[in-house]
Amino acid sequence: MTLSTIPAARRPLANGGQPPPKAVDRPAVEPLEPTPAFLAELAEQSTRLESATPEEIIAWASERYAPYLTMATAFGPEGCVILSMLAKIAPETYVFNLDTGYQFQQTLDLRNRIAEKYGIEVAMLQPELTVPEYEALHHGPLYKTNPTQCCFDRKIRVLRQAVVGQHAWMSGIRRDQSADRARAPIVGWDEKFRLVKISPLANWTKQEVWKRITDEAVPYNPLHDQGYPSVGCWPCTRAVLEGETDERAGRWSGTAKTECGLHTLTEQDGSGI
Ligand code: SF4
Repeated sequence: MTLSTIPAARRPLANGGQPPPKAVDRPAVEPLEPTPAFLAELAEQSTRLESATPEEIIAWASERYAPYLTMATAFGPEGCVILSMLAKIAPETYVFNLDTGYQFQQTLDLRNRIAEKYGIEVAMLQPELTVPEYEALHHGPLYKTNPTQCCFDRKIRVLRQAVVGQHAWMSGIRRDQSADRARAPIVGWDEKFRLVKISPLANWTKQEVWKRITDEAVPYNPLHDQGYPSVGCWPCTRAVLEGETDERAGRWSGTAKTECGLHTLTEQDGSGI
């Protein structure tokens, strides 16, 4: 580990440990129900949007679901590109990050660079227990012994709270990232979180994402220039090795785990997530 990848867990949090900002004020609404008619409508919209640009998909999502539309971002290249698009289309959208306490400092810094460039203040949502409290409770770092539980406690639980009262969420997943993500629709029902899930970049390639970053000088995580094509928490992320073509090869390396559970269509590791 180089100096530039010093663990964020030992550093102050980006928001100084303050409570996360609240979502925009809006009247409470009933949760959506995935009736057959509603699911059919989503499938129809998804098919229609297959040939749409990401900007058109985001505009549709905002028109259809705001102010009950949100987005989770880990500040990956795709998330940063969507944030750059949101800045032009719907800058008021509530965007949050699952701030596990184990993120790289470069990731936390990127949150502030995005805010400076686009005026979008991504909310940093933290688990109930701090990293020291959590590790004390489990007699050590759980990411070493049970990363699925760690992801569940420090990401999934927080996400579930964050999306209460929302109808839809956007993600930056691309179909060419993994076999599981290859099946992602543009618009679909996310049964795990009981939300409509919209993936504006599902049809984009990695090259298209990076072209947009280069063309528009979108801020991105400097770790991508240091051999980390995919960046998650520092204990569970390593640089990819020469010859490794899977851009997520450095995530949970050496384990069967490939996803934190946010974007899986199937359950992993018997986690029940
Ligand atoms: S990625 Fe690793 S450190 Fe982060 S929540 Fe999951 S197991 Fe814990």
